[in-house]
Amino acid sequence: MSEERASILKGAKRILVKIGSGVLTGQDGLDLDIIEHLVDEISVYSRKGFHFVIVSSGAIASGMNRMGFTEKLKSLPQKQAAAAIGQGRLMRVYSNAFGRHGLVTAQILLTMNDLTDRQRFLNIRNTLSTLTEWGVVPIINENDSVSVDEIKFGDNDNLAAMTANITEANILINLTNTEGLYDRDPRGPEKSRLISLVTEITAEIEAAASSEPDTVGMGGMKSKVIAARKVTAFGIPCIIAHGKKTGILSDILSGRETGTLFLPMAQHLKSKKFWIAFTLRSRGKIFIDSGAKDAIINHGRSLLPSGIIRVEGDFHVGDPVTCVDVNGVSIAKGLVNYRSSDIDRIKGLKTSRIEQVLGDKPYDEIIHRDNMAVSK
Ligand code: GLU
Repeated sequence: MSEERASILKGAKRILVKIGSGVLTGQDGLDLDIIEHLVDEISVYSRKGFHFVIVSSGAIASGMNRMGFTEKLKSLPQKQAAAAIGQGRLMRVYSNAFGRHGLVTAQILLTMNDLTDRQRFLNIRNTLSTLTEWGVVPIINENDSVSVDEIKFGDNDNLAAMTANITEANILINLTNTEGLYDRDPRGPEKSRLISLVTEITAEIEAAASSEPDTVGMGGMKSKVIAARKVTAFGIPCIIAHGKKTGILSDILSGRETGTLFLPMAQHLKSKKFWIAFTLRSRGKIFIDSGAKDAIINHGRSLLPSGIIRVEGDFHVGDPVTCVDVNGVSIAKGLVNYRSSDIDRIKGLKTSRIEQVLGDKPYDEIIHRDNMAVSK
């Protein structure tokens, strides 16, 4: 076992397994053998005291199969209808498979709104921890039938990254239908090589990941690498591996070299900052000068009015807003203490002048450091 794998697996007991549609489905819809095999493996480890949360795709694929559709569905209503047909079937398969091991499953269907609202986020966290306490295996999917474009996670890789944050998982195992991340698209004509360890997600690593999904999945390798970037930023390691391989989970959990391991970033974000950086959608931009940029990046400071050059967008107190430098490069994202029209009036001014201009000074900072996730 390599040193990296050993140190990551030591003490890893909360495991988030994401199972992609490409793993769960075969020629004839849901592949029961594969699902039962994965469930058998999870059950063995559950008995040893590991806690699993599953993010499972397969609702749309299962619904499509039930209706006899073979071409990828194009419109949102069609996908939503297929998910409505398939989700129950998917859960029945899991429930039967885990039932054979005496384990109970629970279904949780989420939309993006459930996680961008802090109260709901905390409630979901409590539900999940109660299920875990009860020894139940939560199975999460996107609530596809009600999600609309703007509130969709987009793909279950993103959903898995968010869930890893909520559950504070020790590792995200992303099971797909390839061995892992290759240095170039393995379906292309040129020879490709499996990357077994990623210490940092560089531009080359991102470029190596093709965005093209196969017929059933949504995200392709690109969204898996983006998900890996999110969880590793939160301090959680991630492994992308082949979900159809016999014994894959025990291979991973016993530290055998398989798939691609992404090491957690050394300076990881705390839970709240992760939520700001990756869950919330930015409502506008604040252009900052080089002094403010330096203060934020290199000195861990808050954003004050004096460093602000310009405001873009119409946002309110508490909204997430991106701070960009003069070239428009994103520096940080944070929750603002002032609305956009007020920031426009006090931009470039010293903190001591805020009250004089606005008639009130609830805060010194435009974005307090505690509510800011720095991206550079
Ligand atoms: N939520 C979708 C489903 O269950 C899958 C999304 C994805 O493949 O990423 O069918």
